[in-house]
Amino acid sequence: TKYIVVSGGVVSGIGKGVIASSTGLLLETTGLKVTAIKIDPYMNIDAGTMRPQEHGEVYVLNDGGEVDLDLGNYERYLNVTLSRDNNITTGKIYREVIEKEIVPHVTNAIQDWIDRVSKIPVDESGEEPDVCIVEVSFPILYRRIYCPQTLIICAITPAWGTVGDIESAPFIEAMRQFQFRVGHENFALIHVSLVPDMHGEQKTKPTQTTVHALRGLGLLPDLIACRLIVQKPLEPATKAKISMFCHVAPEQVVGVHDVSSVYHVPLLLQSQNIVEYLQKRLNLSSVNISPEMQ
Ligand code: ADP
Repeated sequence: TKYIVVSGGVVSGIGKGVIASSTGLLLETTGLKVTAIKIDPYMNIDAGTMRPQEHGEVYVLNDGGEVDLDLGNYERYLNVTLSRDNNITTGKIYREVIEKEIVPHVTNAIQDWIDRVSKIPVDESGEEPDVCIVEVSFPILYRRIYCPQTLIICAITPAWGTVGDIESAPFIEAMRQFQFRVGHENFALIHVSLVPDMHGEQKTKPTQTTVHALRGLGLLPDLIACRLIVQKPLEPATKAKISMFCHVAPEQVVGVHDVSSVYHVPLLLQSQNIVEYLQKRLNLSSVNISPEMQ
């Protein structure tokens, strides 16, 4: 199995879920079977016990699992049927570690869980997926860097803003270890960052800082997806600057501006050749993209 981890920095609600789903959809168009896992580093077992006003609405899966709305995105974009185990929370991991009553190792439990669930068939073919998209939020990144802004983030999104560093740390460390467990050619990381547009000027500093912090945690981004919360695309000069100061090639920087429908995001990513990049990076058998996506 190939793993594509999608992380997010700077702020929550940036469009990580949409970018993760869109990447999965694009890979499906090349004939690959894709599954998805969403990691929510909160203590609750699932989203069913959380107030919708704070956390957002709950999405109910076929097996009754009450999960984050992003799982709904995955089911719709990828045309798959997911189960409650496709949503990992700190609560579920700790419960498993406690119930096993062996010498507990939380980071191993997280990796074993991803390993197991990524191999469960999710479509009618009953075959094992080729690719697993793992979406994980790393609140530690914006918490550490953007202390003043964190207060604002807390005010806007209380559920996410209050997720503490200690809660997400085991998942970050598990992902760091996981890249070595599965090998470089089976693990790619897409980091979604914010590029603020200030009166027409696209700012790169938040992206530089979040990528720097990510590297400090032992995770190197293969693709940096720059979210612009305006309808203007990422400018070539901004892309060049991010490439230079985040130490990645220009083709590893993709822009995701606001579009009229989130179902246009796959096309936006496709136009920036992310499939070709991932095929090369993960050594995926190169089947051409289906004509209807062109
Ligand atoms: P995250 O997973 O980072 O919390 P989501 O993927 O759930 O973020 O997206 C947050 C919101 O932003 C959703 O309502 C989604 O429809 C919207 N959104 C995401 N990407 C785009 C985009 N490129 N253009 C317009 N709206 C978007």
